[in-house]
Amino acid sequence: MTFPGLGERVAEAKSRVAEAVTRGGHNQQVTIVAVTKTHGPEAAAEAWAAGITDVGENRVQEALAKIAQVAEPVRWHLIGHLQRNKVNALGSFTLFHALDSARLAAAVDVFGTSRGAPVAVLIQVNPLREVTKGGYDENEVGAEAVRLAKMSGIRVTGVMTIARLGADEAELRETFSAARKAREVFSDAGHPATGLSMGMSGDYEIAVEEGATLVRLGSLLFGAREQ
Ligand SMILES: *Cc1c(COP(=O)(O)O)cnc(C)c1O
Repeated sequence: MTFPGLGERVAEAKSRVAEAVTRGGHNQQVTIVAVTKTHGPEAAAEAWAAGITDVGENRVQEALAKIAQVAEPVRWHLIGHLQRNKVNALGSFTLFHALDSARLAAAVDVFGTSRGAPVAVLIQVNPLREVTKGGYDENEVGAEAVRLAKMSGIRVTGVMTIARLGADEAELRETFSAARKAREVFSDAGHPATGLSMGMSGDYEIAVEEGATLVRLGSLLFGAREQ
C-alpha cells in the first residue's frame, strides 16, 4: 500500500458528501473523481480497490502514460486545460472537464465528428473572471450554448468551475451558484447538461451543498503533492 488509510478517507469523503447533499437540498447524485496527478499509477489502482470508480488527471501526457499502466477499469477524466493540437487524446477519457474557449471547441468538434462519436465535455466557467484561469465569462455562455448546440462532434453534459484559492464561504457560494446557473443556460439551449463539476479538497462540501455532481479530490485522498 502506497496510500495507507485511503479506504477510510474515501469512506469519510463519501459520508461527508451525503451529508452535504442533505443540507443543500439539491437531491443530486455525486461522483467523487479521485485526482491522481503527480502520483504513480498505483494511486488509481488503490483508489479503485477503495471503492473509487472515477479518476482525474490535469495533464494529458502524464495521464496517457498512467492510463497505459492501470489495469483497473476506472473511468478517466481530463480535468485540466488541453492544447488544441492534443484533442485526439480525448479518445482516452470518459469526460473532458475543461472546455474553456471557442477555438478549443472547434478543434474538439473536428475530432468528435471525424471519429463518428461526439466528445463528452463540461464547459469551464470563470464567474469571477480571474485572469490566471481559463473559462468562459457568465456573459459569454448564452451565445456559446447556442453555438455549441450546432456542433455534432461535441456533447455538452454540464459545467465545471474552479473556485479561487483562499476564497471565503460567501465567495465560494457565489462562484458555485454561478456555475449552477450557467449549467441551466446550457440545458435551456438543448444540451444534456446535468453535470456540475466543482469542489476540491478544501471546498467540496460547500460545492455539494450548491449542487455539485462531480467533486475532484486530490490531496484529501492521497496527501500533499510535492509538485
Ligand atoms: C489538482 C486539481 C484538483 C484537486 O485538488 P486538491 O485540492 O488536491 O483536491 C481538482 N481540480 C483540478 C482542476 C486540479 O487541477
